[in-house]
Amino acid sequence: MLTEAEAIEKLAKLIDSKRLQHSLAVKETALKLRQKYKQMEIDENKVKWAALLHDCAKGIGKDNLLRKAKGFGIVINDVYREVPELLHAPVGAEIAKREFGITDYDILQAISYHTIGAPEMTTLDKIIFLADYIEPNRDCKTINQLRDKVEQITLDEAVRIACENTIIYTLKQKKIIHPQTIRTRNALI
Ligand code: FE
Ligand code: FE
Repeated sequence: MLTEAEAIEKLAKLIDSKRLQHSLAVKETALKLRQKYKQMEIDENKVKWAALLHDCAKGIGKDNLLRKAKGFGIVINDVYREVPELLHAPVGAEIAKREFGITDYDILQAISYHTIGAPEMTTLDKIIFLADYIEPNRDCKTINQLRDKVEQITLDEAVRIACENTIIYTLKQKKIIHPQTIRTRNALI
């Protein structure tokens, strides 16, 4: 098992400095969300490692992501073929396992679900998903609004709003919406 400092050093070789800053900010945000939502039964270390490593595959190009995903046995549906970038989440979980020695299934699942969500998300998954969305380096009106509101709403409401914002944004951009984001949102109604 790597120490946190060793993992950050390793991560710095895989992703650019902006993405590394994002990953560190997601870690801080996720730990705060754990406190804010009084989820103290969730292991702090799981929150930390899932947040830190969630984007470890973000530096991999599209073709390589598709190739790696196939090699790892990840099912490549139409949406993934059309938007291979989305694969950085499940591929990242495999890299966390193989290259960072993470064996805890909860951590790996949180990494795997962080981009498109899943209707059966655990509290840990939701904390990572939300932290990724609202970490302070992100500056856009809808995200800033949700960040300000997080104190007054539940974790499920916040995750639902994050999904809805993502769906609306993707729609406006005329890009492909992953049906799992819609299923995640519907599961939170
Ligand atoms: Fe990501
Ligand atoms: Fe991220």
